[in-house]
Amino acid sequence: MTDDSHKPLGDSTRIVTAGRRPEWTQGIVNTPVWRASTILYDSVEDLRRNGHGDSHHRLYYGRRGTPTQWSLADALTGLEPGAEGTFLYPSGVAALAAALLSVLSQGDELLLVDSAYDPTRGIADKLLKRFGIATRYYDPMIGAGIADLIGDRTRAILLESPGSLTFEVQDIPAIVAAAKARGVTTILDNTWATPLFFPAIEHGIDLTMMACTKYVVGHSDVMLGSVTAGPGQFAALRDTSHQLGQVASPDDCWLGSRGLRTMAVRLAQHQSSALTIARWLKEQDGVAAVLHPALPDCPGHEFFVRDFKGSSGLFSIVLDGGDDAARAALIDALTHFGIGFSWGGFESLAIPADPPAGRRPRRFAGPLVRLQIGLEDPADLIADLDAGLSAFRAARGARR
Ligand SMILES: *Cc1c(COP(=O)(O)O)cnc(C)c1O
Repeated sequence: MTDDSHKPLGDSTRIVTAGRRPEWTQGIVNTPVWRASTILYDSVEDLRRNGHGDSHHRLYYGRRGTPTQWSLADALTGLEPGAEGTFLYPSGVAALAAALLSVLSQGDELLLVDSAYDPTRGIADKLLKRFGIATRYYDPMIGAGIADLIGDRTRAILLESPGSLTFEVQDIPAIVAAAKARGVTTILDNTWATPLFFPAIEHGIDLTMMACTKYVVGHSDVMLGSVTAGPGQFAALRDTSHQLGQVASPDDCWLGSRGLRTMAVRLAQHQSSALTIARWLKEQDGVAAVLHPALPDCPGHEFFVRDFKGSSGLFSIVLDGGDDAARAALIDALTHFGIGFSWGGFESLAIPADPPAGRRPRRFAGPLVRLQIGLEDPADLIADLDAGLSAFRAARGARR
C-alpha cells in the first residue's frame, strides 16, 4: 500500500480553502471586508512597540492592508508552489508597473516580448524610458536565442505567454534557463493561464503577474492586479510597492476572494466551450486560421502541449480576406457576444484585434477578431458565430 498522506491537494480543493486563516475569517466562510485607515493603540507605549509598518500581517495603518487583502494575497501565494509572497494592486497595469520598478534601475535594460499587452509597451516606452531604462523588444518565438540579446546592462526579461491578440506561446523554460545563467530577473504576465494552468514559480519565473480583473474576479465588475514573487524576490517587490503607495481596496479584494473560490470550475467551462468553438471555427468558410494555443495553427503550440495544464477562454481568429468593414459586419451581427474590452467574465465578448503599431508585423490572410468565450451554452454561441460569418462573407463578397 502506498502512503498518499503527503499527496499534494488538487487545485479545486486548494482554491476553496486558500487564504482562510481563522484569525482573519473569525469563522465567517469568506474573510469579510475589514476597512481601515486608522488603527488605534492602547497607549503611547503600545504605539511605539507595534506602530511600525514592516511587520507582516499585523494591523498598522490602512495602506499596509487588513486581513481582507492579506487573505487574497495569501490565497494566490498558495496557488503557486514555491512562492514567497504576493502583493495586490488596484489594476493589472499597476501590478506590471510595480513589478518592473522593483527590479529595474537607471541605466538598466529590459527585454520585452514583442507580443506583450499594449499598455505594457506603454510602461516601457514612456515611464521606464523617462527614468533612463532602455527597452529592447524580442520575438516571442526566440526561445534559447534570448541568450544572444542579454548584455551587461540587461536586468529583466518580461514574458507574456500566450501573447496578447496573436497568442504566440513562448518557450518559457529555455528563456528562464538563459536568464538564470546571467543573473537576469524574469517577469511573466500569466493572466491567460493563471497558476491553475501554468504554475509559474515552479517553472523558475521570479515574478509572476496577473490581471485579477480577468479570471480571479471573473464577473467583469472589479479592477485588480497581483504579483507573486519567487524565492528571494518578495522584499524588493513589497518595498517598492509600499514606496509607490500601492494598496488595493478591501472591498475589491473581498470580491476577488469571492471570485477565486469558483475560478477552477469557471476555467474548466471556459476551456471546454472555447475548444469546442475554436475547433468548429477552424472548419468554417471565411476563417483562415484559429490562433488558440491548444490548436496546431498557433505558433508555439508544441510549448503549450509540453508546459501548460490547460487552456482558457480567450483566442483569436484570422479572417480569410475581407477588410475592416467586413470584420465589423461579423462582430455587429453577433447577439450573444458583447462588444467591449477586457475578458475573463461570464459573458462572451468579441473585438476587432489589431496588433499595435510598433509590433513586428506578422502576415495574416485577413483581419483578426479576438473572442472571449463565456459561460453561455456553446451551441448558442456557435449559431451566433455562424450568422456572423454569413454576414462577413456577404460583406466581403460585396467588395470583391
Ligand atoms: C487586461 C490585461 C492586463 C491589465 O489588467 P487591468 O486590470 O486591465 O489593468 C495585463 N495583461 C494582460 C494580458 C491583460 O489582458
